[in-house]
Amino acid sequence: MQRRVVIVGIGTECSSFAPHRTTLTDFGIRSGDRLLERYPFLPVDDQVDFVPGFVARALPGGPVERSAYDELLARLLAVVRAGSPWDGVLLDIHGAMLVDGLDDPEGQLAAAVREAAGRADVLIAAAMDLHGQVSREFAATVDLPTCYRTAPHVDEEATRERAARLLVRGLRSASRPARAWCRIPVALPGEKTSTRVEPAAGLYRSVSSTPDGVWETALWMGYPWADQARASAAVVSMGDDESAVRTEAARVAREMVDARDDFAFCGPSGSLRWALDEAFGSHVAPFFVSDTGDNPTAGGSGDVVTTLRTLLADARVIGDRDSAVWSALVDPAAGRLAATSGVGATFAAEVGGCFGWPDRLRLTGTVGRLVEGPTGLLAVVRVSGLSVVLTERRTPFHTLADYERVGIDIRRTRLVINKIGYLEPELDDAAAGWVMALTEGPVDQRIEHLRLEKLTRPTHPFDELPADWTPAIETW
Ligand SMILES: [Zn+2]
Repeated sequence: MQRRVVIVGIGTECSSFAPHRTTLTDFGIRSGDRLLERYPFLPVDDQVDFVPGFVARALPGGPVERSAYDELLARLLAVVRAGSPWDGVLLDIHGAMLVDGLDDPEGQLAAAVREAAGRADVLIAAAMDLHGQVSREFAATVDLPTCYRTAPHVDEEATRERAARLLVRGLRSASRPARAWCRIPVALPGEKTSTRVEPAAGLYRSVSSTPDGVWETALWMGYPWADQARASAAVVSMGDDESAVRTEAARVAREMVDARDDFAFCGPSGSLRWALDEAFGSHVAPFFVSDTGDNPTAGGSGDVVTTLRTLLADARVIGDRDSAVWSALVDPAAGRLAATSGVGATFAAEVGGCFGWPDRLRLTGTVGRLVEGPTGLLAVVRVSGLSVVLTERRTPFHTLADYERVGIDIRRTRLVINKIGYLEPELDDAAAGWVMALTEGPVDQRIEHLRLEKLTRPTHPFDELPADWTPAIETW
């Protein structure tokens, strides 16, 4: 008998500390063949048809406006209802979304999709980011949730394929799969979760081989900046042996709790001043400094200028001999001013805080470059040896092409200061030296200072865990 699965999702990652608000226009919406491009591995089974439904995704940022979320949810559910009844649902989501007025958006989304699917026994799988959050309600609703096993994420497509294959396995199985969920009382900043280093590398190695009776174990590192009860790490183990999945979830939870003090920043890290001293004390180029506190792909708003203030005050950075670039500041008004001034003209304006981050500064320089990019206008203002990149919309710089677009050849640049965390693969290859500056912003990596109000406690590093801590496993 032919089975039908619909692919749907609303995915983003939001910081409670970002003044930015994610609106409807921030979401890219895919359906039909455009959506199927995300799953080039399909079909994975000749008896299961995966039908493209509705997937909306946005760059991480501030909370999603309630009206935008309600609109997207209504459109998603209309697609599910129109094709119902469904045998299965593949949820394609991030998992750390914040929506104004909701406590657990993905939990609510999963429950609404189950309701709309038209069959009480619909089987739901989810492909998620390992920085997603997994509430009890979400785990109770989604039969087969899984997530990436690498950070930086180089297994996004592989994870979607694993989720699809899990769903097929579930649909072909004689009995409904069992699952065990456990909240892991550990919160980690993203830059301590890199799987290039231990202990994350070992933890993900240990979940990628499965004991008898277990089909899959998924481990989420969580996302502490989205202040919700569910913000810590979590594990779900799935399979056809309830006792085996319970044992495996407990094993992984305990392994992560035992390793909690071993998670460290995945590269040399310290204050911005320390980072600049490292850069100028080094003789290699290009030297990268990650400006981690306002990384837009981690939920930064992109409008923080605190680092720029330090750079402008540092004679080594703006000196004529050395070339340096800082990317990027979202500031539509400043970009427009640069555009109307024209290349070669003097630029002088207050910049920063366009979404409300409480800091602005006066930037005076020369317009060096103006270009229309995929995210709108990009402008470079040169202050002696420093190129300051201004963008019309929030724009990550993750590839050499991102820099080439604004006329900057990274290989000929002495110092690259970038609103990023661990370097994405192409930049990592290009970097001759690299340190992380622990800077101020909506995703400040020094999470022990965060004022979280909703996170379930106790949670490391905010609280001491009880010496006799044991995993509290729930099964379905
Ligand atoms: Zn992630």
